[in-house]
Amino acid sequence: MIFERPDYYNQFSCIAGDCPMTCCAGWEVDVDAASRDFFLELKGPIGDEVRSVMVDSEDGGDYAVFPLTDEGNCPFLASNKLCRLYSALGEEGFCETCSEYPRYFGVTGSHQQIDLTLSCPEVVRIFFATTSPVTFVTTEDIMDGEELSADETLRLSEVYRFRDAVMEDLTNAFSGSEFFPEILLSHSKDLSTFDTATLPDLLASTEVLDERWQEVLDAIQTTGSHQKAFPVNDTDIAPFFLRLAQYFLFRYSIDIFYGSSRDDILLLILRSLTTILWIYESGWCALPSQSCRLTLDEKELSAPLSSKEEKVIRLMDATLIFSRQIEHSLENVEILKKARS
Ligand code: SF4
Repeated sequence: MIFERPDYYNQFSCIAGDCPMTCCAGWEVDVDAASRDFFLELKGPIGDEVRSVMVDSEDGGDYAVFPLTDEGNCPFLASNKLCRLYSALGEEGFCETCSEYPRYFGVTGSHQQIDLTLSCPEVVRIFFATTSPVTFVTTEDIMDGEELSADETLRLSEVYRFRDAVMEDLTNAFSGSEFFPEILLSHSKDLSTFDTATLPDLLASTEVLDERWQEVLDAIQTTGSHQKAFPVNDTDIAPFFLRLAQYFLFRYSIDIFYGSSRDDILLLILRSLTTILWIYESGWCALPSQSCRLTLDEKELSAPLSSKEEKVIRLMDATLIFSRQIEHSLENVEILKKARS
């Protein structure tokens, strides 16, 4: 198997009770088949409680679901933001979704893509701790993955060729002070320009996963920040747009193998970067109790915050809410990918 991961991957460790958000709210937890079977046999009051909330998946799949409470939380989220299943059962209490988050592992043939999602505030902290372009680490072991047909092997190598060419161009074109999304368009078959006219409607049509989303959309409209276009030429934040472009490119290029077009992926990246820029420009700030600022070491921050620190924290919050709202719904990702402007 060949494994690929970004250079920041190994720095992650969950900050649990110190986290300004939680990963146990906003989205239902899918309970994989092995965990479902474990919970079905589990003795004692905690077993009874799990069985009283767990339901079969609606699509008839081989898994179950923990539906959210009326407050939009996982039913096992305790008031101290810790997991009651973990507290009662340790690692065994975690189903696959909970033990993996915010990591994800995508396997195609003998190739595994390993990454962290920016919907976790601690991942956002790590991601925004440096302005250098992301580098990707490749390792290999002797195990074989699922065998692909000759046609699939060819298609997969074309996907990686495309991804690596765009990645290289992005990093070469970045001036250090400006990020130019045109470099993405230069890899498109049919897109000669990037039109943002329909983007506000697309964003408004997404399934709401984060309760703050309407507030964010209102801020964009009220401040007119959706008039803002690239390039970003503020040296305090421009390098992060390159890193974000690399993140989206690495994460979603593999979708081409599963049916998306190259232009779908380029559009998704352009729309994601633009939305994050709009949220940032709108001045929207997460509540102090939910801000990524809480993940930063107070001792390393100026008091009061410098203008650069304020900008970076605002961009971190914009990125976090974008990822929480869009990236945990296949439907929302498809909305940003598919509809042509
Ligand atoms: S969002 Fe990230 S840091 Fe917060 S509890 Fe979940 S995994 Fe831990």
